[in-house]
Amino acid sequence: MKNERDKTIEIDGSQGEGGGQILRTALALSLITGEAFSLNNIRAKRPKPGLMRQHLACVQAAVAVGGGAEHCKAVDVDGAAVQIGTRQLHFAPGAVRAGDLEFAVGSAGSCMLVLQTVLWPLVLAGQPSSLVLRGGTHNPMAPSATFLSRMAPFFSGGAQAVYTLDMVRHGFYPAGGGEVRVRIAPPPDGLSAIQMMERGALLEAWAECLHAGIPKGVANRELDVLGRALGWTDAQLRDRGLRSNEGPGNALQVILQFEHVAEVLTAFGEKGVSAEEVARQLVREVQSYLAHRAPVGEHLADQLMIPMALAALQGRAGQFWATSLSEHARTNARVIEQFLPLQFVTEPLDGGWLVRTET
Ligand code: ATP
Repeated sequence: MKNERDKTIEIDGSQGEGGGQILRTALALSLITGEAFSLNNIRAKRPKPGLMRQHLACVQAAVAVGGGAEHCKAVDVDGAAVQIGTRQLHFAPGAVRAGDLEFAVGSAGSCMLVLQTVLWPLVLAGQPSSLVLRGGTHNPMAPSATFLSRMAPFFSGGAQAVYTLDMVRHGFYPAGGGEVRVRIAPPPDGLSAIQMMERGALLEAWAECLHAGIPKGVANRELDVLGRALGWTDAQLRDRGLRSNEGPGNALQVILQFEHVAEVLTAFGEKGVSAEEVARQLVREVQSYLAHRAPVGEHLADQLMIPMALAALQGRAGQFWATSLSEHARTNARVIEQFLPLQFVTEPLDGGWLVRTET
């Protein structure tokens, strides 16, 4: 999808949400379009601005996918290699190379955000790829491996999945150490249109308590509070004790599998927050999603925007109805519009938002 323009796109990292998503979206679309960009004010609205370890891992992964340092440049304002704390990045992509790649965040930072950076460039690369990703797999403020795995079927249009994800080891903050294997199979007929306007029937609903190396009884307490509040049976409440060397960590997740969409909602156990409160937080999120009719939850909306735009440019325009549209999603739309010749159009629809693209 090479663009004709031969100029550097200037991106303001302090716009809108002002966080790490601006960087990841820019890296992905720069690789896809072949256009260089300069990003200033990286993560300007975060308490510790600039690249943190997990963002640096995304830049390094993008360089590797863009053919390595010989072909793909990521430098700071002085032309030096980027590092933790860098606030200005110039990125000049090389041609995307599919293949077998391994990326480690090197901390408990989310390796799913590294996947978010390289997934769509590799899907469009023409050849299959297989990735080994190491770091956090279930982190607050990031899509979990479960979330991204349940999302995979939305892009296949019923054919072979565009990607599959296998959990080798869970990784939680602050220990990290998770590992996920991802196989990417570019669709032979191009990307499918994203058309997500209804949920369809609820086929399955269950909660899963992932835990490792935390006090006994926590999982029971979380599942008990959640089960009572939602009126769920024991069969819907799954206790998934993990190997103790995968922890310490605790993620309580609910999976709502509808005919046309899956929603994964997660709450994390933390020191100083009771097991009951963790469960109550999640119950509130589940009830709020179930009270709505729109299929796409707040976080799924973020993940759909890049593939929806790419499919639209292949002549397969789509649309989705989201329960809400965060500042995060709106900022993501503005960054995508800087790289691709289309606009996102959003309009209120029945207590949520309709999102589509116009070329
Ligand atoms: P920072 O905000 O510190 O810059 P960041 O790089 O994590 O860090 P964000 O811009 O906040 O950047 O992006 C977080 C990503 O994780 C977004 O894609 C968002 O949709 C996703 N996300 C956050 N929370 C959840 C959740 N509970 N479930 C699924 N996805 C989530």
